[in-house]
Amino acid sequence: MSSLDPHLQDVYDRVLARNPGEDEFHQAVMEVLESLGPVLDQHPEYADGAVLERLCEPERQIMFRVPWTDDEGRVQVNRGYRVEFSSALGPYKGGLRFDPSVDLGIVKFLGFEQTFKNALTGLQMGAGKGGADFDPKGRSDAEVMRFCQSFMTELYRHIGEQTDVPAGDIGVGQREIGYLFGQYKRITNRYESGVITGKGLDWGGSEARTEATGYGLVIFTAEMLKADGDSLEGKRVVVSGSGNVAVYAIEKVQQLGGTVVACSDSSGYVVDEKGIDVEVLKQVKQVRRERIEAYVDARGGDARFVADRPVWEVPCDIALPCATQNELDVDGARSLVENGCQLVAEGANMPTTPEAFDVLAEAGVRFAPGKAANAGGVATSGLEMQQNASFEAWTFHDTEQRLTEIMRGIHERCLTAAEDHGSPGDYVVGANIAGFVTVADTMLALGVV
Ligand code: NAP
Repeated sequence: MSSLDPHLQDVYDRVLARNPGEDEFHQAVMEVLESLGPVLDQHPEYADGAVLERLCEPERQIMFRVPWTDDEGRVQVNRGYRVEFSSALGPYKGGLRFDPSVDLGIVKFLGFEQTFKNALTGLQMGAGKGGADFDPKGRSDAEVMRFCQSFMTELYRHIGEQTDVPAGDIGVGQREIGYLFGQYKRITNRYESGVITGKGLDWGGSEARTEATGYGLVIFTAEMLKADGDSLEGKRVVVSGSGNVAVYAIEKVQQLGGTVVACSDSSGYVVDEKGIDVEVLKQVKQVRRERIEAYVDARGGDARFVADRPVWEVPCDIALPCATQNELDVDGARSLVENGCQLVAEGANMPTTPEAFDVLAEAGVRFAPGKAANAGGVATSGLEMQQNASFEAWTFHDTEQRLTEIMRGIHERCLTAAEDHGSPGDYVVGANIAGFVTVADTMLALGVV
């Protein structure tokens, strides 16, 4: 942990004292505070207005019981969350995560990150995040539907197209969004498309939303390489995960001339020196919902599976962590550095531990934080809301074009903020400062609310 100036240290100590045991939330706050020294020196009004103290305290935190009945007729009970972090820039906006690891600290770390990410997109979106400690893996469609219906039976009172607009995240894809939207519509008797994003194309969804986080990540990576006079052409890339973000990151890397040689899930990784076949991967993970090992048989050839090992041991030029928080640890970072990796861009939220980040920084590896690099998903959710509000449906090409412009804009904003605050080329400092200043200025303009 690096040292903070007294005001920032005070803010951090207060966060620790008020939110005991929420390690990921503490980590996310520290990662932002570490960047803000120069901007607070230039702008005493932020400290005078207690902007950081306010930003670290969510506007509203909702926890609720989610009872449902499994296929054997047993009653199950999960815990649901929605943390509405900041509405300075627009309605609360951010995904829902269904995973056994979900607790209040995880939801708060994600909501805090979302505040800066959404600000970076330049769209009018506040920040929120939610979910439940429910594991959809191994559950039947009927069980997932009953769970989603019960979850929405409470959540519906807190959301609305002008209030709070959820979306997907880990464990929440189009199937879950469908069940959630269906129940919302039934309870409220309103076809309010803009209340949730990540919808199917026939019922208010946006072209390119499914692809947006992974595509946006790779567009951002390509911009970083371009800034250094380089490109993705011929690069060897490793991606962790094989969910929504990972699959479309792989697809975009290959469109831009790179080769993704490995990807993973929580059971291990596959290596395919000829390049991961995205269509085969989609069949295995999205259609058949199988473990990553099944890719090997489905693909044939020399593809192989390595159980219970981190994908970071596969040599690469570029690493894209796209699975979950704190998945890239010191050992993983050391392997990447030893094998000559030049660039890490985060598709997942906070996948790199602070210690791993130090190893990468020490070795001069270029690094893009998730709040900038994976903002394409929420940005395209913003585009979905725009289409819902105007009853329009843009083409895939139009939407991808706007996504590309937004990612380039975020890249530019990061570089400019970093340059202006004495850390040229530092995307972490740039993303934190650019996101913070947008929210902070708005909060000051709106008064003490
Ligand atoms: P997802 O579709 O549920 O996929 C998650 C993937 O990560 C799965 O393949 C999962 O494997 C794998 N995984 C989980 N823990 C792992 C571990 N310890 N090691 C290796 N693989 C692991 O979720 P997603 O939507 O792609 O989200 C992934 C990350 O991106 C999350 O951090 C999320 O917050 C972030 N993100 C998502 C979006 C979005 O639009 N979806 C936007 C911004 C950021 P198993 O099947 O074995 O669990």
